[in-house]
Amino acid sequence: MNIILLGPPGAGKGTQAKRLIDRYGIPQISTGDMLRAALKEGTPLGLEAKKFMDQGTLVPDSVVIGLVKERIQKPDCAKGYMLDGFPRNVSQAESLDAMLGELKQRIDHVVSIEVPSSELLARLTGRRTCRACGAGFHIKFDPPKKDAVCDKCEGELYQRDDDNEATVSSRLQVYEGQTKPLIDYYEKQDKIRRVDGVGDMNEIFGLIVKVLG
Ligand code: AMP
Repeated sequence: MNIILLGPPGAGKGTQAKRLIDRYGIPQISTGDMLRAALKEGTPLGLEAKKFMDQGTLVPDSVVIGLVKERIQKPDCAKGYMLDGFPRNVSQAESLDAMLGELKQRIDHVVSIEVPSSELLARLTGRRTCRACGAGFHIKFDPPKKDAVCDKCEGELYQRDDDNEATVSSRLQVYEGQTKPLIDYYEKQDKIRRVDGVGDMNEIFGLIVKVLG
């Protein structure tokens, strides 16, 4: 099963993807995570991406399309995969369709996680992630027991560089202008499965599993 997780920044795509991995045994392919890993390693691609990520704009299509094309051909994707944060605009979606055509693959479901924009700024600016295990917290909505310490592994919690208010505003604008039109794009292919992304994380997970059938 090949799935796209679609939704604004802060909709909970990454959180739900981590649970879906266990449920369906398919990998999460997050272009954001891949770019952050490249940046941490200091590769030329990571350094090139940094300026766009810091501004909250999209890195060039050619960069992310190349990353995805290579990744979906790895052996762990043979039974399917979950794309998180890709495609991010119509041109990436068209490239993905062309790529999947060549590989004789298809997207089965596009899960659209819907959260009103009024909620997103607070969700994003309060996010904290564990450096060691990647677990996610929120200083207000899901606080760790000890300040800045991961409940699961005692790792250090940090705030993503692009979760500051200025960059978040730009990311939300990019979503509205460039990514949201993908709902129409995939609606025409009859692949959109809408899920209400407000409420308890377990309930939202249940809704996703239900729409995936
Ligand atoms: P994310 O972790 O998905 O919120 O992505 C963080 C940042 O990485 C975005 O604001 C973009 O700068 C960049 N990025 C991630 N995925 C893509 C993509 N598919 N196309 C272009 N830029 C991306």
